[in-house]
Amino acid sequence: MRPFGTTIFAEMSALAARTGAVNLGQGFPDTDGPPEMLAAAAEALAGGANQYPPLAGIPVLRSAIAAHEQRFWALARDPDTEVAVTAGATEAIAAAILAICEPGDEVVCFEPYYDSYAASIALAGAVRRPVTLRPGPSGRYEFDPDELRAAFGGRTRLVLLNSPHNPTGKVFTGAELELVAGLCREYDVFAVTDEVYEHLVFPDAAAPHVPLAGLPGMLDRTLRISSAGKTFSCTGWKIGWATGPARLVSAMLRVKQFLTFVNGAPLQPAVAVALNLPDSYFTGFTAGMQDRRDRLVTGLTEAGLTVLPSEGTYFVTADIRPLGGADGVEFCRELPARSGVVAVPTQVFYDRQDAGRHLIRFAFCKRPEVIDEAVRRLRN
Ligand SMILES: *Cc1c(COP(=O)(O)O)cnc(C)c1O
Repeated sequence: MRPFGTTIFAEMSALAARTGAVNLGQGFPDTDGPPEMLAAAAEALAGGANQYPPLAGIPVLRSAIAAHEQRFWALARDPDTEVAVTAGATEAIAAAILAICEPGDEVVCFEPYYDSYAASIALAGAVRRPVTLRPGPSGRYEFDPDELRAAFGGRTRLVLLNSPHNPTGKVFTGAELELVAGLCREYDVFAVTDEVYEHLVFPDAAAPHVPLAGLPGMLDRTLRISSAGKTFSCTGWKIGWATGPARLVSAMLRVKQFLTFVNGAPLQPAVAVALNLPDSYFTGFTAGMQDRRDRLVTGLTEAGLTVLPSEGTYFVTADIRPLGGADGVEFCRELPARSGVVAVPTQVFYDRQDAGRHLIRFAFCKRPEVIDEAVRRLRN
């Protein structure tokens, strides 16, 4: 773990606190999730749900996770053997990689990648094989199919795919997913998918969200990971889950026993309530976030940045070169003093850092008045 220092989020959030800047760096909402969920947590806490839950999660939550996957994605999973509750998506990702990979195995992933991926791959003694996402002619992030193919080989053990994608806001299309699925079938490897933004795809995206697990030949080789944090605005609760074939879920649980064992006893029944909310909650959530995205995109454009399309997630990326910036890390370190706003450089999420040197990421999961204030400061 020697190469892994303090995360960029810690550095930038400390900078925000010290300078009083508006923090559009770290992706956490500044409002609470659905009141039904919060009430259910309070009730469970007062009602004695305060001891170790079962390793795989309480049955009512496992059933709600399976029902949610059936309702939105038409994926059928057995709540008793094919669902595991985890300490956030982060633990699910770590446990999945540790369970599946032996030292020296290779993990194909797309860069820029979520920062825990590199660390989890390193903990497993595995090797990452990044495929670079780059803005194409339309500004939409794309990958080169030949580069993807070249990343696969005899040591490939799994593909780690995040869609909708943080930090780029890219949503992988059916055709892009089919390229990934085809290589998984050809090389007979597993897939681990990080779908924490499954409910945050905007109507102007190139494609709706499609879980990789639903493509031909993928159901029996894919662990699909998600979490309550982003969908229900409770990132501090750390209730996540993984669904997949029983052999992969049980392998993952074997690792999980010795990571956290279990977490969040009174929060688990509350997340079950949230997952069972009517469709109107989910559509309202997406529409509210789209409005925030649009406010921020308009403001960033007016401030002179080149904004790349955000099809989903909490995030939008922008090119700093029109404002004379060349290096995102330098630009973001100066931005609080210069404009009173915090953003994060995305180059830290690449192995090939040159590909992202001029790109920075803003989070729009904030109250409209906070976004408006950030935009006012940036314009000045
Ligand atoms: C926030 C986030 C996670 C972590 O989810 P937790 O449930 O908080 O552990 C994982 N992957 C991506 C892409 C994220 O943005």
